[in-house]
Order: sequence, then structure tokens, then C-alpha cells
Amino acid sequence: MKSKILVLVTAVVFIGMGVFVIWGNDTSTTFDDRPSIEDQPTLGDETAPVSVVEFGDYKCPACKSWGETVFPLLEETYLNSSDDVSFTYINTLFHGEESELAALASESVWEENPDSFWTFHKTIFDNQPDQQNHDERWITSESLGDMAGSLENGPDAEQVVEDVENGTFADEVETDQNVVQEYDIELTPSIMVNGTLLEDPFDWEELNAEIEEALEDDS
Ligand code: CA
Repeated sequence: MKSKILVLVTAVVFIGMGVFVIWGNDTSTTFDDRPSIEDQPTLGDETAPVSVVEFGDYKCPACKSWGETVFPLLEETYLNSSDDVSFTYINTLFHGEESELAALASESVWEENPDSFWTFHKTIFDNQPDQQNHDERWITSESLGDMAGSLENGPDAEQVVEDVENGTFADEVETDQNVVQEYDIELTPSIMVNGTLLEDPFDWEELNAEIEEALEDDS
């Protein structure tokens, strides 16, 4: 009896491992075209052969974490040293009104003061409360204005508040949502390398390998 149970348990464990391996090997999704990065905030050369696109949401804790863990590797390995790789951020609104307000502010800064875009971008994520408190309301037009105002040579805080409250760049936010739909983005962050949507945005090895493959395809 005992050995039968052992066999059964072993079988269940192996089946379980099998399922896990199949999941683990799930391939990334490839589209015919890469997302358009025209008029989108981009680090590096917009015409670089390899474009890395993040679909992100300022209200999303995983996006803050991606920016703190994976992005620095991307920056160090490619963005600082290669003209062949670019990085673009596209607003993805998965957390309601606060996501939208932050997106409006980021589009405002991108239009009105593009040189301070990436500092402002990072500052919003830096202001995100820790995991435990991330549901609390922390994004308002005023708080976004304060974030802008806190930066040296940063964006005009009053302009940011005004643009957020008037929805001045609502069309730009909508453009981003159209791209989100076009590529069936369901999670944030989602990372694409040219036309390939990565299975796991936090897997640096996978991201690195996709970039290398795309560079090779280009050469
Ligand atoms: Ca945008």
C-alpha cells in the first residue's frame, strides 16, 4: 500500500514538473511588425535597428521594480554603449484614474520639456509607495505637479498641473492605448524587442538573447 502511495505521489510530482517545464518553455509571441515608436519617448536613436519597448503603468508595482532591476542592465549593456538599440516607454492604463493622470503628466512633459522626460519618469516611480501601501491614492494633478517642481531644471510644475487637469495630451494617451490593443498587451510591464513580446519581462537572459538575435538578424 505504502509503495503504491509512493508511486502515486512520485507520478503526481513528475506530472507537476512536466506541466511546469511546458509552462517554462512557453515561447514569446512574435508579431509581423514592431510597435511604432514615432513621437514616443525614446532613449537612443529612434531609427536604431533594435527597439526595446516597455508597456508600463506608473501605478504598477512590477513596473517600478522592472525599472530598478532590469532597466539598469539594459542601460549598462546596450543603451550607454550601442547606437543599435533604443528604448521606448508606452503608457498602459491598467490601474484606473491614477494611471491616466500619470500618463497625461508624462505626455505633457514629453511634449513641453522632453529633456527632462526620463528624470520625471523615474521620479514618478520613485514616489510610488511600497508594495504594502500601493493601493493608496498617491497620484493627483497636484502630486504630479509637486514631482515636476522637485526637479532641478525640471518641467514647469504649473504647466504639468494644467495639462493634466485639462487633458491637454489625451490624444497622445489614447494613441498609446491603441498600440496596447494592437499588441494584445495584458500585463504590465510587457517588454517587446522589435516584434517579439517577451514571455517574462524580468528574465534578463531572455531579453539579452532576444536583443542579440535581433542584432544578428540586422547584420
Ligand atoms: Ca506615449
